[in-house]
Amino acid sequence: MSRKWYPGFIEELEGYAEGSGLKFEMVYAMTCDFPGGRGKACTDLAANASWTKDDCVYVAHNEDVTPYQIDEICVAKIKPTDEPGYIGLNYGGIWPTEGLNAAGISVTGNALVPNDTRVGIPKSLPVRKILREAGIYQALMASMPEERGHSFNNIVSDSNGEIYSMEGSATTFDALYAEDGWLVHTNHYLSPKMWKFEENMHTRFSSIVRYNRAKRLFKKELGKVDLEAFKRVLSDHVGYPESICRHPDSALDPEDQTMSIFSIVFNLTEKVVWVCKGNPCQGSYRKYEF
Ligand SMILES: [Zn+2]
Repeated sequence: MSRKWYPGFIEELEGYAEGSGLKFEMVYAMTCDFPGGRGKACTDLAANASWTKDDCVYVAHNEDVTPYQIDEICVAKIKPTDEPGYIGLNYGGIWPTEGLNAAGISVTGNALVPNDTRVGIPKSLPVRKILREAGIYQALMASMPEERGHSFNNIVSDSNGEIYSMEGSATTFDALYAEDGWLVHTNHYLSPKMWKFEENMHTRFSSIVRYNRAKRLFKKELGKVDLEAFKRVLSDHVGYPESICRHPDSALDPEDQTMSIFSIVFNLTEKVVWVCKGNPCQGSYRKYEF
């Protein structure tokens, strides 16, 4: 199924297996487990040019996973001959989880826990395929393959300021459009159409707190949004330790802890990527360009 839907990425995995000396079956299994462990729980913000200080389109994201995964992630600049090329945050150097391509298409994602998971295309493949597309129509199609086994909430945006939150489960999705030119998303289904696919709402309290808090804080920044505004919102500690800026909860087993291992801000208009390694409350954002 994966090979049929996106043969190019399967070739990349074959090359990765050959180069690293790992068996292809192992590399593919790692693709299915992406990005490892219990999955991600993140906070995303997006705003089009009407709301930003420099009239550029921005998308921002905190990546919340198991703390040790900070050693598995790198900033990768990838330029295949038949694609625009992208700057991505790639686990193991090859599995992008977030990225901006040279055509001004970005993808960031929030883990969801749907109750209709099945055998099918792993949720990491759409992320990679979105990053090869040059238009929003193609990118949205790439975000929701019909034979998928699971799905992230893929936030797919372009430099025109088209911003979509693609809330998927394995069998259906809703395309939430940023009607007013901005949106916030965390880790539970917002669309009433998708509520019945939420596996267990009782595990979503951090997501609820982060969503409402991020929305409220971001509203205050609208009209003057810039890198500093994103840093302010993404460093917030209300709901600590499971806050927007997440810190490991020492009361939990290390495997169950969650931490914001990086924070990113994409400028889709000028094609600039800002990356902060570790918690945004402590670090600073470094600039990457094509
Ligand atoms: Zn913090």
